[in-house]
Amino acid sequence: MKNTNGYKKPVSWRVYFLMLVFIFMWIFFYFYYLYNYHSSVIEFVFFMSYLLINIYIIILFRKNNRARLNDIDALENITRFLADEINEKNRIQDELTKSELRYRSIFENTDNAIAVYEAVNNGEDFIFRQFNKSGEKIEKLSRDEVIGRSVTEVFPGVEKFGLLEVFKRVWETGETEQFPLKLYKDNRLRGWRNNYIYKLPCGDIVAVYSDETGRMLAQEERENLIKELEDKNRELENFSYMVSHDLKSPLITIKGFTDLLEKDILNNDTGSIKSDVEKIKNAADKMEVQLNEMLELSRIGRLINPPAKISFKKLVEEAIDSAAGQLARINPDIIISENLPDVYVDGMRIREMLMNLIDNAAKFIDKENPVIEIGTLENTEEAVFYVRDNGPGIHPSYHEKIFGLFDKLDPGTAGSGAGLAIVKRIVEVHGGRVWVESDGTGNGSVFYFTLPVHEPEAGKQH
Ligand code: ADP
Repeated sequence: MKNTNGYKKPVSWRVYFLMLVFIFMWIFFYFYYLYNYHSSVIEFVFFMSYLLINIYIIILFRKNNRARLNDIDALENITRFLADEINEKNRIQDELTKSELRYRSIFENTDNAIAVYEAVNNGEDFIFRQFNKSGEKIEKLSRDEVIGRSVTEVFPGVEKFGLLEVFKRVWETGETEQFPLKLYKDNRLRGWRNNYIYKLPCGDIVAVYSDETGRMLAQEERENLIKELEDKNRELENFSYMVSHDLKSPLITIKGFTDLLEKDILNNDTGSIKSDVEKIKNAADKMEVQLNEMLELSRIGRLINPPAKISFKKLVEEAIDSAAGQLARINPDIIISENLPDVYVDGMRIREMLMNLIDNAAKFIDKENPVIEIGTLENTEEAVFYVRDNGPGIHPSYHEKIFGLFDKLDPGTAGSGAGLAIVKRIVEVHGGRVWVESDGTGNGSVFYFTLPVHEPEAGKQH
């Protein structure tokens, strides 16, 4: 009895039973025959041998069957063993799947970016093998854009940043390293990153990092605000000091001449009365000018029209027109560069600022061939403009001081000393800087200032 697998099926007990019934039937028939017909010895021998052969066949049959049963037992054992093995394998597989899901979910849902790299070229470069969701969000790149590409390709600034060197070191030594907070920059991306690098047992490198840009910007903004507040405070202190100090001098003059006037009136000295009144009037006028300029300066800090794109050359030409009175006095050569860009400024304020610089240049030039140049520097990171003159220049020790309110180097010169303070304020409210370069030995001065030449970002104001 062979089944399709080639295994012989064991014979069931029913077959044995039928065979035994058959043998007993033979015995019964023989004795019945013997009793009725008195058979011979030969017949007896024949019958016995037939019986023995039958018994022998049953024994053989049984033995064979037992062997088959043993085979089946063995097969059953093997099957049970295999089933157990399969169950165990399935259980382990389930555990592995669960564990993989658990770790994948941690990998994907952590706030930190995680990138797994495989070293290539003997650790000279590293290929992205895995990249989590936070990484995609921080770097504004999908994982399809990075997996399989090298870190130097995806982040061209990584070598300059110093991280590539750390990757290589961790890959070589297997020692985990912390890469402290640093600003990463390339043409596409700019952000503060805090990295933690380690090596996996399979040899891959893992970078776990966080984006600290928001925090750093907030800190930077806070520091700027504090600095701005400190500057404003200092300015306010100077302002109060200056108000009390500078307004004191015309007040003292007025008070002094009022006393003299009183005496002259009593003495009926008409000549002196006229001159006293003149001096009081002059002091009052001076006070008025100073008060107006102080008001102007305090207004500049608060009042600035929204920046608009405007031709810097046009502003220069208008400022020259406004300073015509002072310029006509010396009639200088005015050279204006051709390459002046457009600027994003409050045109009215910048015109006022330029007028102050041009007015000063004309006021202080003491040469026979006065020259005033207005232009912009080439190849600088930010747009730098200048107003140059060939006047007496300013000694370096006064380069800071002259930008203070009512600070003059020569009290005998015309002007209140507020012009450069106004220039500085206007440039600063546009987010720029102003400074002077001069050796103060009669070779003239150059006043430099920076101005925005790109449209300001929405919501960003100075
Ligand atoms: P003022 O109204 O007196 O001109 P400013 O603030 O404009 O006041 O200038 C302050 C001082 O800086 C001036 O009194 C002068 O001594 C010096 N200064 C300004 N511009 C020039 C210049 N182009 N050449 C030489 N000295 C200058």
